[in-house]
Amino acid sequence: VSRKWRVKPTVLDLGGGVTIGEGSLALCAGPCSIESEAQMEKVMNHLTENGVRLMRGGVFKPRSSPYSFRGLGMDGLKLFHSMARERGIKIVTEVMQVSQVEEMHDFVDVFQVGARNTQNFNLLDALGGVDKPVMIKRGISGTIEELLSSAEYVFSGGNEKLILCERGIRTFETASRNTLDLNAVPILKEKSHLPVIVDPSHGIGIREYVPAMALAGVLAGADGIVYETHETPETAASDGQQTLNFDESAKLIRNLRRVYALR
Ligand code: PEP
Ligand code: MN
Repeated sequence: VSRKWRVKPTVLDLGGGVTIGEGSLALCAGPCSIESEAQMEKVMNHLTENGVRLMRGGVFKPRSSPYSFRGLGMDGLKLFHSMARERGIKIVTEVMQVSQVEEMHDFVDVFQVGARNTQNFNLLDALGGVDKPVMIKRGISGTIEELLSSAEYVFSGGNEKLILCERGIRTFETASRNTLDLNAVPILKEKSHLPVIVDPSHGIGIREYVPAMALAGVLAGADGIVYETHETPETAASDGQQTLNFDESAKLIRNLRRVYALR
């Protein structure tokens, strides 16, 4: 995945006019978890009204506590996929284990590898064998080099459709959920030809500060931003404390486009 090997930046074409990589700003938003048909309908309307064509949402959720909501599973994914198809929306969703790769394959546009699975090498090997893009998040305590090595697993397995995601790392700081490492953006862009996306929601973990960090991510050189939004964040099944409501999200989308145009 090194620039030394390939100088030209990788631009992924998801079809239907949706691209991720240099030359455009990729915006991806959606709830932390897929909860219901009604919830998805509202988020999809919000995204469509604001010209966002890429939606995130987990159906297999890696939760710290086994008693927390763990997602709707394949039934949720099938509904997510069919509703998105009808509206020309592409979807990004997390795959947690090797056995899910095949069953999820036909229902996703981008597989997400979560921060807890960045070094699940069996999963990375399995994703090396698919023909769908993979967004790899940086490990919870992972270095930039480890993120690149994880991407290398997928790439060397034959799948070159990769996106790197900076989502914050665990540091000694406790005032925020994680420490969004914006240093990683220019470093990854220099070291690798792959698109780099910033996730300010998990990066800082506090709703009020998400827009500032999203805008900073664009100025740092990110090719896109992925963040959490929900009609009523206070009732979200997961990560409500870092989720934007639709007014906040619409304002952020406008500002992200403005800031990107200044680059
Ligand atoms: C998520 O995207 O909702 C998620 C669980 O992210 P991460 O793996 O970065 O914690
Ligand atoms: Mn989340």
